Order: sequence, then C-alpha cells, then structure tokens
Amino acid sequence: MTTADTTPAPESHSFEADVAKLLHLMVHSVYSDKDVFLRELISNAADACEKLRYEAISNPALLGDEPKARITLLIDADNRRLTVEDNGIGMSRDEMIEALGTIARSGTKAFVDRIQAAQGGEGAQLIGQFGVGFYSAFMVADRVDVVSRRAGSDEAAFWSSDGQGSYTVAPAALDEAPARGTRVILHLMEDAKSYTERYRLERIVKEQSGHVPVPISLVEKPG
Ligand code: ADP
Ligand code: MG
Repeated sequence: MTTADTTPAPESHSFEADVAKLLHLMVHSVYSDKDVFLRELISNAADACEKLRYEAISNPALLGDEPKARITLLIDADNRRLTVEDNGIGMSRDEMIEALGTIARSGTKAFVDRIQAAQGGEGAQLIGQFGVGFYSAFMVADRVDVVSRRAGSDEAAFWSSDGQGSYTVAPAALDEAPARGTRVILHLMEDAKSYTERYRLERIVKEQSGHVPVPISLVEKPG
C-alpha cells in the first residue's frame, strides 16, 4: 500500500476568535521591530528543550541517542525560507491544535484585550511590550508550517496556516519530520527576505537570544 492510500487528508480548523484577532494584527502590523519573531521562536525552542530535560529525569529513554539539546536555524535563501528547529519535547497532533490554535496563555489574552482598547498606532507599540509568542511569526511569513514529533512517539504531525483565520493539521511521514522535537518553517514575505542573510540572523540572535541556555547553530542550504 502506498502512503497516499493510508494518509488521511489534511483537516481544516478555524482559529479561536481571539487568535484570529491577534493574527489579523500581526499580518497588518506596522510594528517596525519585526526581529522579535526570532526571539519568540527561539524561546519556544529552548522551552521545549527544557521540558524534555525535565521529563527525561523520570524517563531517560526519551533522550534516545540524542541527549544534547540543540536549536538549529536553517536558511534556504533560494526558496525564501527560514526554519527554526529544536530537538525538544515536541508536540502531538492534539497538543498542536491546543497550543497553536487557541490562546492558552493569560498573557496573550491580556494583550488582545489591551489591543482592542488601544487606538490604531498605539496597538503596534504594544507588540513590543508583550511577548506575543508564536503568532509573531506571521509578521514576517505569509505561511507558517510546523512539523513536530513528540519525544517517545512514533507519530508526527504537520500544521500549516497562512494566518488568515484557519489552519490545517495532518499526519506527517516520519522521514519528513524531526526524529524528536519541532521544526517551524517560515515562508518569508518578499519584504522579509533579509531574514535569510546569515550575518543579519547572527546579529539578531546575539542581541536577543544571547542568554538562551541551548546552543544555537546556523546552517545554510547550499544554493
Ligand atoms: P508561550 O511560549 O508563552 O506559551 P507561545 O505563543 O510562544 O506562548 O507558544 C504557545 C505554545 O505552543 C507553547 O506554550 C507550547 O506549548 C507550544 N509550542 C510553541 N513552539 C513550540 C516548540 N518549538 N516545541 C514545543 N512546543 C511549542
Ligand atoms: Mg513562547
């Protein structure tokens, strides 16, 4: 049997109303310091590595043959793509739906409330004050794909959205997923293509993520 016979079609889900509002704001953001998206994605990657380290205390088998935490930034300039990959705890399909489709955290909810109360330009300033998390990726990308495999699981899942109100989830083939952890693939907007420049990324990482306790490496896809 081929994969095509066994792989269910991607399911489409609507974002929770508050997420849709937040995304609208991100997509139409006039906030100039878009660099913060990288800090947010790296911080999520580092959190995921920390969660794995914690779970592995009682279940060392989760570490498999890759005990050392790592974060990798993959540059694919030809396709205008930037990928942030970690070998942390990963997400199951259901965890992806919960974590990336709803506003699970109170801080983000407070942000949405403040934004709605704010006048036009003021809203943009608030992006800098609140850590806006994963959704900030939509300031620089017109499509975000997430491929994840939870530590210890023999299944992987694929999430994808253009930030316009809905997202899809589907099973992912294991050979197209990280062995463990999460890969966030940003399809960069035309005016965000400078995020495929190694020196620019190195500078942003140094400025914003210098304190991150997981080694971050930069890999360029040969053009
Ligand atoms: P926060 O990090 O404050 O919880 P985010 O919007 O940055 O909020 O991320 C939302 C959630 O998505 C996280 O709490 C986590 O559950 C999940 N998540 C995001 N990125 C990753 C990742 N790289 N690995 C595992 N889970 C992730
Ligand atoms: Mg976060």
